[in-house]
Amino acid sequence: MLDSPTVTNPYRHLPSIDRLLDQPELVAVIDQFGREQVRNAARRVLDDARAAIGEGGDAPDLDALMAAVQTTLATELAPTLRPVLNATGVVIHTNLGRAPLSQAAMAAMMAATQGYSNLEYDLDAGRRGSRYVHAERMICELTGAEAALVVNNNAAAVTLALRSLAGGKDVIISRGELVEIGGGFRIPDILEQSGARLLEVGTTNRTRLADYERAITPASGALLKVHQSNFQIVGFSEAVGLSELVELGRRHDLPVIDDLGSGTLLDTTPFGLAYEPTVQDSVRSGATLTTFSGDKLLGGPQAGILVGKADVIARLKQEPLTRALRVDKTTLAALQATLLAYLRGTATTEIPVWQMITARPEELAMRAKNWQDRLSAESLPVELRPGSSTVGGGSLPSQTLPTTLLALISDQPDRLAALLRAGEPAVIARIESNTLVLDPRTILPGEDDTLLAAISAAWQKNR
Ligand SMILES: *Cc1c(COP(=O)(O)O)cnc(C)c1O
Repeated sequence: MLDSPTVTNPYRHLPSIDRLLDQPELVAVIDQFGREQVRNAARRVLDDARAAIGEGGDAPDLDALMAAVQTTLATELAPTLRPVLNATGVVIHTNLGRAPLSQAAMAAMMAATQGYSNLEYDLDAGRRGSRYVHAERMICELTGAEAALVVNNNAAAVTLALRSLAGGKDVIISRGELVEIGGGFRIPDILEQSGARLLEVGTTNRTRLADYERAITPASGALLKVHQSNFQIVGFSEAVGLSELVELGRRHDLPVIDDLGSGTLLDTTPFGLAYEPTVQDSVRSGATLTTFSGDKLLGGPQAGILVGKADVIARLKQEPLTRALRVDKTTLAALQATLLAYLRGTATTEIPVWQMITARPEELAMRAKNWQDRLSAESLPVELRPGSSTVGGGSLPSQTLPTTLLALISDQPDRLAALLRAGEPAVIARIESNTLVLDPRTILPGEDDTLLAAISAAWQKNR
């Protein structure tokens, strides 16, 4: 049977690009992304439509084409870095951006970036200054160190310390401390990058002072201690304390570098956690240099902080590598504001990481109960169960904090978790004993309504 040619040529039903772009429905996306981007998207959508017709499909109507243009733009040009709600109960979650910042830190970042600043300008002298003076006095006041230097992150701080103090020489480290922190930070690799030579001593579970001492030769450059951070060696184990290592270094005229990792300024024991060595302890023990992150237990921006002897820090400031690892003004602004909370004595009430760590179990139970009431009212099958949160960020391994979890009962928890991740904003939950659970500890104050709306939306899509 023969159809008329106008009917058999479905390509002719497709509009031109210009006709598509002239549709009033597309005005808003043109405003948002610009005419050129919308034109490119329209071209691709029309190409796809032609290809589909070539395979025997029908020509899509104008509405379908416009919807396709909008979806194409929304998916291709949406910012890839987006806020998410962290319902995992892992306070310092490296994959989720580590420490959320305090209000004061955010305000300081804004103030430093919306105009110019004296980042490298000496206001008294009216000439060029150094960015490395910012935050230094506060860090010294808080830690008792003679001097301090802030760089991009702690991996950079360790690399810089090793290169400057022990480049081309042996760095002696216990086999129990050759750690991998995650995200590719492996102590042996960092050592190699820094141009220092790794010299392992002792065994995985036991290293004694004599092991270090035997390894010291004229080729030695430094003694390195690395905080184990994300694991523990339990049982038949022995490690050398920092003070003993410092004493050994003094006798042999060798610097001692202490990589603390999370580097807390507060004693963690009053909060029901194990003892985590503080920066103050490290400085007091006499380490030549101590390094730690800005965005782990300090609760500030991503940064690496080196504290130690004045002459050594002065030398580090002159290293060409320091220029490549330099910290930016927003970081310095946020760091100063974060440190001020410690100086004021308001760290546990002002800094989100510490607010979460110190949240009382009754508070968390009340919040979870409120979520349960509100979601039950919408007929969602929710239950409360006792659970535990963790600090994360490679600090305090195997330590947990008691919490109350909201469980969302479903026979497809993985699908539900995927729907929550696909939502706007994305919600990251945890699956425990085949049940999807959400921990109130890491949901920030003010995020509850958004979270509950996101859960409802995901639940509707799940049905
Ligand atoms: C986290 C960690 C690092 C890396 O710090 P970043 O700030 O992520 O670069 C290095 N050493 C130890 C012991 C750590 O825990």
